[in-house]
Amino acid sequence: MTNQQLWQAVLGELELNLTKANFTTWFKNTAVSFVDGEKVIVGVPNTFTKAWLENKYHQSILKTLQKIIGGHIKEVVYKVELVKPQIGKTDVPAAATAVRAAAPSVASEAPANRFGLNPKYTFPSFVVGKNNELAHAAAQAVAKNPGKSTYNPLFIYGGVGLGKTHLLQGIGHAILEADPNKKVLYTTSEKFTNDYIQAIRSRTTERFKQTYRSPDLLLIDDVQFMAAKDGTQQEFFHTFNDLHQADKQIVMTSDRPPKAIPALEQRLISRFEWGMIADISQPDYETRIAILKAKCAEKGLELDQEIVNHIAVIIQNNIRELEGALNKIIAYEQFQHTPISLELVKRILESHVTSGRKSATPKQLINTVAAFYDLKLDELLGQSREKRLAFPRQIVMYLMRKELESSYPAIGHELGGRDHTTAMHAFLKITHEVETSDRLKQEIEQIKQRLYNN
Ligand code: ADP
Ligand code: MG
Repeated sequence: MTNQQLWQAVLGELELNLTKANFTTWFKNTAVSFVDGEKVIVGVPNTFTKAWLENKYHQSILKTLQKIIGGHIKEVVYKVELVKPQIGKTDVPAAATAVRAAAPSVASEAPANRFGLNPKYTFPSFVVGKNNELAHAAAQAVAKNPGKSTYNPLFIYGGVGLGKTHLLQGIGHAILEADPNKKVLYTTSEKFTNDYIQAIRSRTTERFKQTYRSPDLLLIDDVQFMAAKDGTQQEFFHTFNDLHQADKQIVMTSDRPPKAIPALEQRLISRFEWGMIADISQPDYETRIAILKAKCAEKGLELDQEIVNHIAVIIQNNIRELEGALNKIIAYEQFQHTPISLELVKRILESHVTSGRKSATPKQLINTVAAFYDLKLDELLGQSREKRLAFPRQIVMYLMRKELESSYPAIGHELGGRDHTTAMHAFLKITHEVETSDRLKQEIEQIKQRLYNN
């Protein structure tokens, strides 16, 4: 096992207890650079990350390392160094998959080839089940007949880790395979936003337009992040129109259908609904087994049927986690030189059963926030609009949405019968503020730590 595989196993574990945003922010471009006896050196990209890992995540990192390589590890040192992105190295296929599985958001930002496509995300490696067959069929239709079918745009939506990015990039690969001269652009809505802001700052909007309006196929991932970004939405609207009018194919993904994306302009919603909308839902037991078998074959891992069945029972709602589980098993096998038994697998996957950052209840969240801001419950839930109360209240609503995935009406209800629009407003407001304020980001981080470490 290489240092890289070790680190992927650690990341796979850590990811379970962090939000995607935190995970990406703090673990992007990190790597194990050295293991020697009881010491592990972790390379980090900058001093900021170093400080953050030392102060916030050191215990979790140490514990996870100990769990994977053994209790003899006593020291973890964080060292600023240039960490090369590992994606796209075709000589280490298993490890590349590990990167994907453990750090999806990190990986999807690192361009794998000149079109930004990960070589592993192809149609042939995509397992089709009842949960994704419609989206898969639509993706294939688009790949066969880009721009000309009635599937323009194609809008694919579904929960985290269910294969949206994989399918999206599969279209790109298939089109390039049929015609290598086609121009394919894969991007995320976050990158689109950043590029746009950058272009305005540096007065290079012409070049920006050139980039985004010239491809034959525009693949744009996670469009829900355009919520409440008016300038970006406007720009995307024009990009969309340009491409669509020229019969260029657009494919988008999102974690929810167009109508449910908060603060998305009506004219964009209606455009997103022009073509075909397909959802991906959670895989059933049979599909999970089929996926596990395919991933095992890919990684050269041989597991007994009963072990595969067990994993498919334990991990139900996320294919990324299924992969993470396999990577952990590989890590144990290689470090501890123990043959893989069902018992061992049960032990390895224990954290999947008990962990769960989603395991907090609204009540616990409310109590945690009240304690954090030193407020009485009836103050926090009351009607007063005093800022010292209104702000923490908005934090509760934000976290209920973000962490517990409560619906807006449910949030309003929990907070003393407030209207769902109040909850939505609070969520958008805090979402926006978190993006611009490091201080608030840290506060929220602390609240979450208290919430989940109780
Ligand atoms: P999303 O974009 O929906 O969050 P991803 O496309 O990143 O999810 O998928 C997460 C992981 O699960 C990837 O490694 C992907 O290859 C794998 N995966 C998801 N769906 C399938 C599938 N149907 N067949 C094979 N692998 C899949
Ligand atoms: Mg994705």
